[in-house]
Amino acid sequence: MEQPILYIVIPCYNEEKVLPITAPMFKEKIEALQSAGKIAAESRVLFVNDGSKDSTWEIIQALSSENAIYEGISLSRNRGHQNALLAGLMEAKELCDITISIDCDGQDDINAMDQMVDEYLNGAEIVYGVRNKRDTDTFFKRFTAQSYYKLLNKMGGEIIYNHADYRLVSSRVLKEFANFEEVNIFLRGMFPMVGFKSTCVYYERHERLAGESHYPMTKMLALAFDGITSLSIKPIRFITGMGVFFALLSLVFIVYALASFFTGNTVPGWSSNLIIVCLIGGIQLISLGVIGEYIGKIYLETKHRPKYIIGERTYEVNQTKE
Ligand code: UDP
Ligand code: MG
Repeated sequence: MEQPILYIVIPCYNEEKVLPITAPMFKEKIEALQSAGKIAAESRVLFVNDGSKDSTWEIIQALSSENAIYEGISLSRNRGHQNALLAGLMEAKELCDITISIDCDGQDDINAMDQMVDEYLNGAEIVYGVRNKRDTDTFFKRFTAQSYYKLLNKMGGEIIYNHADYRLVSSRVLKEFANFEEVNIFLRGMFPMVGFKSTCVYYERHERLAGESHYPMTKMLALAFDGITSLSIKPIRFITGMGVFFALLSLVFIVYALASFFTGNTVPGWSSNLIIVCLIGGIQLISLGVIGEYIGKIYLETKHRPKYIIGERTYEVNQTKE
């Protein structure tokens, strides 16, 4: 078999502190894989600048003029990690045979790439990088993340436990994936839907090498909620079930209320009334919120807006394989 061309796709947002440290690591990994005879000489590191406000793009440009192994595209503005990654993958699928997506902060062990490429050479089209330890994460992050994976799977979202966005995907899979036209994307939950042969590779997750996380609580919650609503409609079903349950319960209360009325016992009903009003009111508001969330998604989907716009590249556009 001819050696595959590998593109390592790396989304970067305000990463001027860590990029100069990690970029050479990716380059060395490609060179090592090349000298091991596993990947082709045309393999590249493809950075995606996600509308950074610092000098990230200047660093990427400098890297690519220094060494042909580095290439970069720059989005017209910040679009978030998932969209930036998608932009890179869609760009790369025309240029290579396999992509490996990874964050640029050095948290994910790049040595797992060897095994990923081996799995590809053994026939897998998707190789999921799975963290086997989360020692460096806080207890809180570990706990919330793991409960979340369990919840998602219960709701029918097919998602790999402890897998984030470190994975190998062949360009064949990416070309099929390009037909998934939704604008609300949650990549780790969508790739399993494409199918094809897949497998997992285990690695340890480290601390960020420099700079700071871009995923504060609010963004994490938003991603978590997007994950659920883009993979499952179970929350809406749950609300319907809850509605039926409370409707039945209220029948019992109506009988009780009428009985109390006719026996002349109506005054002491104040607390039970209040409790019920509050409870039902709360449930109704939450239900409206959840349904509204889905309607909001439908609204965004119907607009069919582009998920990203590429503003600049470090190379000429019509460059295709060979
Ligand atoms: N990132 C991005 N756009 C954003 C936020 C983050 O492209 O709007 C990139 C970031 O540069 C990094 C990756 O996504 O390569 C993961 O982000 P981060 O390390 O901050 O998240 P964490 O690992 O803490 O979840
Ligand atoms: Mg990180």
